[in-house]
Amino acid sequence: MADNYLEYRMEDMRSGRLSSPKKFVPRKRKPVSQDDRSCIQRHAEMKKIASFTIDHTRLEPGIYVSRRDVTPSGDVVTTFDIRMTRPNREPALDPKALHAMEHLVATYLRNDPEWSDRIVYWGPMGCCTGNYLLISGECSSEDVKELVRSAMKFVADFEGAVPGASARDCGNYTFMDLQGAKDAAVRYLNEFDGTDFSLEYPDASEISSDQ
Ligand SMILES: [Zn+2]
Repeated sequence: MADNYLEYRMEDMRSGRLSSPKKFVPRKRKPVSQDDRSCIQRHAEMKKIASFTIDHTRLEPGIYVSRRDVTPSGDVVTTFDIRMTRPNREPALDPKALHAMEHLVATYLRNDPEWSDRIVYWGPMGCCTGNYLLISGECSSEDVKELVRSAMKFVADFEGAVPGASARDCGNYTFMDLQGAKDAAVRYLNEFDGTDFSLEYPDASEISSDQ
């Protein structure tokens, strides 16, 4: 099972599906001068302007591009906010359900013939209202919508033992609720074709100083 991320990437590299990453050479540190300090300050302000935060009280279930990052070797990584509930307006997901979902969806994505090479990460949000999906390369919510839908269908229909739910493979393997994961997937799938389901953050152009 290619559930172990490192093993999975190693497998990719060995099979030639991925080229080896360029060597990252860290910059040499030097003492911070007054000029540097003001430069750091300016940079922090620029970051504030470039980023934005989301009004969670208006956030609906959906698939949102949360970040696009460029790694030191020049690769783009797109982070998706897979928002499954209405934050602060309906109950968050149960952490045990999210854990079972993590095992199932990670397994599903890493075995998807079209997308497996580009899956970097799937995992729950700390606030338990959804998950993060990290994909290698620049892509949009529309691009991954059907992938997320089929992953949720896989969870909703899943029967049997959750992959990786053993003392050897997981750090807290009894902390799982398969039925909870299935119910959450069904609720999210029902949202998929609803009028509230969204692929763009509300007021994405609004600038906030919270980040
Ligand atoms: Zn686990």
